[in-house]
Amino acid sequence: MALEGQSPYSIDADWNNLYIGGEWRESESGETIPVEDPSTRETVTHVASGTEADVDAAYEAAVEAQAEWGETPPAQREQLVQGLIHALDEHSEEIIELITTEIGGIHGVGETSIQITQDHLAEAATLPRRMKGETAASNIPGKENIVYREPEGVVTVISPWNFPLNLTARALAPAVAAGNSVVVKPSTDAPIIGGLVWARLAEEAGFPDGVINVVTGRGSEIGDHIASHPDSDVVAFTGSTEVGQHVAGLAAENLAVPAMELGGNNAHIVTAEADVDQAIDSAVFGSFIHQGQVCISINRHIVHESIYDEYVEKLTARAEALPAGSAHDDVVLGPIINESQRDQMLGYVEETIEAGATLETGGETVDLDGVDDSLVVRPTVLSEATNDMAASCNEHFGPIAPVIPFSDVDEAIEMANDTEYGLAGSVHAGDIGAGLQIAKRIDSGNIHVNDQGINDEAHVPFSGTKASGIGGYNSTDFLDEVTEKKWISLQHEPREYPF
Ligand code: NAD
Repeated sequence: MALEGQSPYSIDADWNNLYIGGEWRESESGETIPVEDPSTRETVTHVASGTEADVDAAYEAAVEAQAEWGETPPAQREQLVQGLIHALDEHSEEIIELITTEIGGIHGVGETSIQITQDHLAEAATLPRRMKGETAASNIPGKENIVYREPEGVVTVISPWNFPLNLTARALAPAVAAGNSVVVKPSTDAPIIGGLVWARLAEEAGFPDGVINVVTGRGSEIGDHIASHPDSDVVAFTGSTEVGQHVAGLAAENLAVPAMELGGNNAHIVTAEADVDQAIDSAVFGSFIHQGQVCISINRHIVHESIYDEYVEKLTARAEALPAGSAHDDVVLGPIINESQRDQMLGYVEETIEAGATLETGGETVDLDGVDDSLVVRPTVLSEATNDMAASCNEHFGPIAPVIPFSDVDEAIEMANDTEYGLAGSVHAGDIGAGLQIAKRIDSGNIHVNDQGINDEAHVPFSGTKASGIGGYNSTDFLDEVTEKKWISLQHEPREYPF
């Protein structure tokens, strides 16, 4: 697996195998997929290209392991989840480096990924002891009703590339804590951080064989087979709305529970009464962290006309001062994940300018020494934007800040809600009570007053409305998704029937 003296978490370790039933094995086809470092554009390793036969093997192993795992005492499951916490802690620096290499996350993004993941693991470790049933009085004489809470069985975890460590963790950890086994399919752009790292950590923590299985491979080749697998009881999917709708359809046909966290188009509303400097601090972080590749980042800035010019001027100056380059260097913005994402977002910028917006800064890539076709995009500010321009009405998933003026608060709220999505958002309105009143009128699963949208706390519910998802994540909300209730009644004395 790793050469002598080499960490199994180094990019140079062997990542070429699937993890099924506690064994590392080649894909049945023997084929592999290259993994590119988006900063250098070099191929850094290869992962196995899983096939449908590999997927079947993973579910077979998961079903077999779950029977015993589901009966494991809570303290033992708690201890194993804590084992993940210790293993992650021990290898955090190597994993941060992997995040930089595999997805172009700067060191700070890697650190944040570790912190959020540890938070999700810590919360998951409490779930085995909190997984309680209930009793209910009966209308039938002599009957006792007991409601047991049981694991669903096998949970499928499909994760995206943008924050793969914690987005896999937030489904995987509570699922296994509740007594389920899992089959993880990470993104092709993050097969290591979103999947194979979890296999290594599970092995190190001592999970029984088959409880955690990882199949890497292309969504377009094995995705449908995974999403519709008859042995899958829950499909915990985080990704785009387009793919999520398709996956939810397959899961529903199979009568598996779809727990879907999808795209967003989040508004940052700044009223005339706001503290502009505080709103700008939030705006710079919320728009540009991880190159804007966050489902809950700021997609649109909706700013009152009386402070509009000051806001655009300050946001532009701050954007221009942000260093952008290779994620291996000391920068704030690293590369976009791949060419198609970069080209799509730059296309939105072009269309928005053609439709009448003004490019204040950015809108182009940064040349890097020795790199052909750089994926680094300068932080971009577009003024005089409207809500229907391409960079505003699409989830651009890039370091792009379209700034839209408004004249009264009702108009701002209407614009913020005028999207198919309902994931997150933020409000700066001076008085915190005024901020709360606006937040209540925004149709989204999360919204933050005097802040920006990027927040996730494992003990606090997280979900999207409208096209941003179905089902609840975090803590007991997700516990509900991965467990089912079973009613058993006990008839203590002979029951009288009508015939
Ligand atoms: P994506 O939808 O392209 O891919 C997500 C996952 O689905 C990947 O693992 C992919 O391989 C897999 N997949 C593709 N086709 C499949 C199929 N037919 N069947 C099963 N799986 C298939 O998303 P992405 O580009 O990886 O991530 C970005 C998107 O994720 C954005 O829209 C973002 O808003 C969203 N996201 C949402 C949240 C949230 O909590 N709501 C968090 C992070 C990202």
